Amino acid sequence: MTSINRSGAEFLVKETKGLSEANGPKSLMPTSLRSAEGNLNVCWAIQDWSRWRQSAHDIKEYVLANLDTLLEQFVTKLEAKGVTVLWASDAAEANNLILGLARKYNVKTAVKGKSMVSEEIGLNHFLEQHGIKTLETDLGEYIVQLAGQRPTHIVTPALHLSASEIGQLFTDKLGERYTAVHEELTAIARKKLRQEFIHADLGFSGVNFGIAETGTLALIENEGNIGLSTSSPKVHIALMGLEKIIPRLDDLPLFLNMLPRMGTGQKLTSYVHLFNGAAPGREMYLILVDNGRINALKNQEFREILQCIRCGLCMNNCPVYRHVGGWAYGWVYPGPLGSVLVPQLLGIKTAWKLPFACSLCGACSSICPVKIDLAHLIVRLRKKAVQAKTPAGNWIETLTWKNYAFWMQTGFRFRFLMRFVKFGIRTAPFLPWHPDKLGAWTCGRTLPKPPKEGSFRQWWAANRR
Ligand code: SF4
Repeated sequence: MTSINRSGAEFLVKETKGLSEANGPKSLMPTSLRSAEGNLNVCWAIQDWSRWRQSAHDIKEYVLANLDTLLEQFVTKLEAKGVTVLWASDAAEANNLILGLARKYNVKTAVKGKSMVSEEIGLNHFLEQHGIKTLETDLGEYIVQLAGQRPTHIVTPALHLSASEIGQLFTDKLGERYTAVHEELTAIARKKLRQEFIHADLGFSGVNFGIAETGTLALIENEGNIGLSTSSPKVHIALMGLEKIIPRLDDLPLFLNMLPRMGTGQKLTSYVHLFNGAAPGREMYLILVDNGRINALKNQEFREILQCIRCGLCMNNCPVYRHVGGWAYGWVYPGPLGSVLVPQLLGIKTAWKLPFACSLCGACSSICPVKIDLAHLIVRLRKKAVQAKTPAGNWIETLTWKNYAFWMQTGFRFRFLMRFVKFGIRTAPFLPWHPDKLGAWTCGRTLPKPPKEGSFRQWWAANRR
């Protein structure tokens, strides 16, 4: 798809609205629909939106084609500003580098601004095992950490919790008076977190964009927690995936305009931080994390997914994500993004199920701000999953689909088969064992009743005129 499909995405929002009302309190439908509508409204208010998308796509495509030289330039500039840059090939190496730095500075407590890479490497858990308390400071992340849960969305981690549930959580875990008023809940979190910022020995952050030309780290946020996490403790460690590079400072305004619109439906975030080295008397480190990205980059067929700017809009617009939520995807990145990215980072043998968590409606491709054609990547990944002889490609399934293809190839075969199917459905209730014994697919499902008046084909032949 080459341009934004307004009518398609709008249709999805409208069509699924009725469903949202029918869902229980745990459904993500109402909240993600609100997000999707907000996002779409601010985007379509821009006349040049298609051109913005194309420019963002072109820049990110250039980055992937020149990643080695851009990274070299970026690192040279950063080191010249006194930032220590470290490379981590995988999660274990990244965690060990961080632990080494934490020990060097005798760190007991750390505060962390939102970072998806830190989720990827399981940083909180790892540091906790080594006696270092790491507190999430993004409000959504703080809530899910307090609840002992995992984020359910990459931009809005506590999307699945209502204000009343959060109020109860604050009462149970923090001993606060119960409230479900949003402003009061925010005030409680703010009061608790302030003390943590003051006493923390180390601050972590992610990176939204690394500017190669100037060696600048760009971070955006709404709550001020990233500003405090990176300025209050004496040491700041930024974690960045290799692909987060953009070539020039002039490219930044485009992404600063696009990311909040797609992520939270805002024209601009409340804060934009540009780090050009450590502040006087402070230490700054950047850990560049590969964790499967170089392998993904080598794969021409799927490397497009590394253009992702983590706006989360494909999730908000995905009918499957809206119903199953983020946890169902099993790892850090849910929704259409996760269905493509996770198999690249963890391997198709590990994540073979994810490309199948998709209705192939194409809403994600039509909305992605960097024009990643997610739907087609998902289709191609399904083929890979079967070819890789994953459980989806076992011999029973292969035989079944070959059989299916044979009978569907001509009208004659199809009609012939349908006679047996009708006979099978009519006689199934009289079998000595019920078809639900066939396993998970048949258990809990009722066989449809064949129509009395014949098939659609017969009806069509008779009523065609
Ligand atoms: S794949 Fe596209 S829509 Fe999805 S999070 Fe990434 S940039 Fe956003």
